[in-house]
Amino acid sequence: MLKIGLTGGIGSGKSTVARLFEIHGIPVYYADQAAKEIMNTDEALKQQIIHHFGTETYTNNLLNRTCLADIVFKNKEKLALLNSLVHPATIRDAHNWMKQQNSPYTVKEAALIFESGSQVELDYVIGVYAPKSLRIHRTMQRDQVAREDVIKRMENQIDEEIKMRLCDFVVYNDEQQLLIPQVNRLHEQLLERAR
Ligand code: ATP
Repeated sequence: MLKIGLTGGIGSGKSTVARLFEIHGIPVYYADQAAKEIMNTDEALKQQIIHHFGTETYTNNLLNRTCLADIVFKNKEKLALLNSLVHPATIRDAHNWMKQQNSPYTVKEAALIFESGSQVELDYVIGVYAPKSLRIHRTMQRDQVAREDVIKRMENQIDEEIKMRLCDFVVYNDEQQLLIPQVNRLHEQLLERAR
């Protein structure tokens, strides 16, 4: 079974593309969602987060995401430290999850595939490309947040053009090309490669 990564910047449309793969019956692992769950269920990880970021990061044994976000999004070193704790746990979880699926290929949707080094676990990586201005606009609309907040979040990700060059396939979600036919073609190609 092939293991496929699906990545792209904030607001590029990764989740939208992932849902199109799901319509084809392909199992999708959503790394962001999974990481949030793991931070509540992995005891060793919880203890490490408390050790480095303080007891106030958990309330009634559940992650206080606002508190943790306040700490790490103001400080690049702290964000890097948190990622160095959470990424290995998520990579392990994704690997185990993918092994359990019964499908010609599975997809792991994650914003930070190259940043976390998880491409080594994957057979191919698909990039979802959209220009920065469109990504900012989509994210502001979706999350009802200010432009500056979106730009701040973008600063933690590697340059989009570089990221796309690292990918094996690119889906253009730039309002110039239709999305569904691109995903349909990729699905056929991946089925072929899985054979
Ligand atoms: P994040 O990394 O922030 O989770 P993402 O890459 O998963 O973002 P999506 O959530 O899929 O991006 O898309 C961002 C927003 O843009 C969503 O509200 C989605 O509905 C919208 N969107 C994405 N692609 C399109 C499109 N082709 N046409 C219209 N709206 C779109």
